[in-house]
Amino acid sequence: MSGVTVARAGSPRWTRLALAAALLAAGAGAGALACARRPEPANLIVVVIDALRADRLGCYGRGRPTSPAIDRLASEGVLFEQAMAQCSFTPPAIASLLTGRYVPSHGLLGWESRLAPAETTLADVLSAAGYRTAAFVFLNLLTRHGLGQGFGDGEEMVEPAERLTGLARAWIEREPGKKFFLFLHCYDVHRPYTPPAPYDTLFDPGYGGDVDGTNETLAAIQSGARATTPEDERHLEALYDGEVRRADEILGEFFAWLEASGLLAKTILVITADHGEMLAERPEPGLRYTHDPSLYDPVMQIPLIVRAPGKVASGARVAEQVRQIDVMPSLLALLGVEPPAGVQGESFFARDGALAVTTRPAYADVYPEPQRPERYVRALRVPGRKVIHRIYEGAWEEYDLTTDPDEKQNVWTTGPPDSLADALLAHSEECGEVHEVCVAWVEREGAGVSGTVTLSGGRALGVDHPPAGPAPEVSVSDDGARVTFRARGTGGPSAIWVRVSPPGVRAEVDARDEAGRPLPITLLGRGPSSAPVAFSLPEIGHALLNPFPTTDHGVFVFGRARLTTQRVPIDLGPEEIERLRALGYIGD
Ligand SMILES: [Zn+2]
Repeated sequence: MSGVTVARAGSPRWTRLALAAALLAAGAGAGALACARRPEPANLIVVVIDALRADRLGCYGRGRPTSPAIDRLASEGVLFEQAMAQCSFTPPAIASLLTGRYVPSHGLLGWESRLAPAETTLADVLSAAGYRTAAFVFLNLLTRHGLGQGFGDGEEMVEPAERLTGLARAWIEREPGKKFFLFLHCYDVHRPYTPPAPYDTLFDPGYGGDVDGTNETLAAIQSGARATTPEDERHLEALYDGEVRRADEILGEFFAWLEASGLLAKTILVITADHGEMLAERPEPGLRYTHDPSLYDPVMQIPLIVRAPGKVASGARVAEQVRQIDVMPSLLALLGVEPPAGVQGESFFARDGALAVTTRPAYADVYPEPQRPERYVRALRVPGRKVIHRIYEGAWEEYDLTTDPDEKQNVWTTGPPDSLADALLAHSEECGEVHEVCVAWVEREGAGVSGTVTLSGGRALGVDHPPAGPAPEVSVSDDGARVTFRARGTGGPSAIWVRVSPPGVRAEVDARDEAGRPLPITLLGRGPSSAPVAFSLPEIGHALLNPFPTTDHGVFVFGRARLTTQRVPIDLGPEEIERLRALGYIGD
């Protein structure tokens, strides 16, 4: 694995535009590429268009000319009609794309974590196979989130698309003829929806209202402070479509340059997105114009087009459901390179480029952030059906996508066990998520605390306690259904963490003082309660917070999902938080 050399473009937008123009001018004169002729594609370019939902492209059925250049690529390659994102956050989704692994498995959960060095990315594999590699991206994906791993060159905070493609051309021209893997992350379709002229009026020139696509306006709509008319909503869609068209044109110029240089014929070209975007499908404030933490279809469904001349038949359309995690092993299959161990995706190509697609279940995971503990959502989509688990609220949704493709009618019932929900709960466990019932208290000097954790529908796998502080006496019944604990009152905070299986196990907690009197119990997310309390995991819980009681009377109970994956946390500095806020990721 090679280290990445990353240049940062900290310049404001107007300077970046000037830089892009200079780069384009410099690139225009360097057209003499001396690439050896190859019978098969040797190079790979993956273009991720951030927040591009599939159905806004012409080739996915948009009834207006949003994407002529991408449509042409689709007609020359294979288009996957149902490709599913594994997260609605940018860094975890791109990590799933590059590692072929689900979010809880690769451990890059969100803004506050980075990819563990033990993970193997597409760039790692291809650089080891002798490819030149580079990534030009927006956000701090390469440095802060560790996604620069395996890339020999790169630059982050790159926008707009002209600058992105200018950097790509300059990089390719530097060593023409050497096989390469280039990763491009285009941010131009992402909020705010403020395309320049003529794209701002391209699709609804007659709009007379005062709604614009700035982050300020979108935040007001998101919070419910500002109402929108159907005309306003059509306008916002037209602005989004204008951004798609603009990005398509800039990328189209890059594709035309690849073709004129003779590179297009020997390059596998992939167009996809990290996730889609909600465009007023849901009435709920917070879910109207955004992507995270939504796992509804406008966000989960991403475009996926693979153009591989001489390898993959042109004009094919695949109806079977595939996933973001399948992209990495599929591209490696086309390039004849073995995928690394631990890849959870499956190739949809045989080695000869023939399609080998079976329908696959698609999981998606959104983990909470310190600033947004409630954004803890998980989904499982199979053809025709989908469940969404909003873990913090303990709420489930289920949709029959054959009769209700817009996910309007929640058909979830709390009746008999639901196989899709069971599979979703098992997924987290298979990905290395450990579910715990945590019971915490503050011991007063000489005042003991004792209690039981009784499990139904599952068993205790073991009991841990914080490394600091007194160790309580603990015993587990033979069948694992009952954990008894006793602390002698040595003073200070104490706790037990009961590891449980399966994740959906039901727990009941009882706690007593030294005289055997019931102690008040506070259940995280539910407020104080009289003992005993019962709940299901992971109905309550939090992967990141580790709350502790502030009261010295009673016990504090919470569920927790802990990852066995090596998670590498990073601190968000005030500057970073401010920038994420300016981009609309963090509310006030
Ligand atoms: Zn994104």
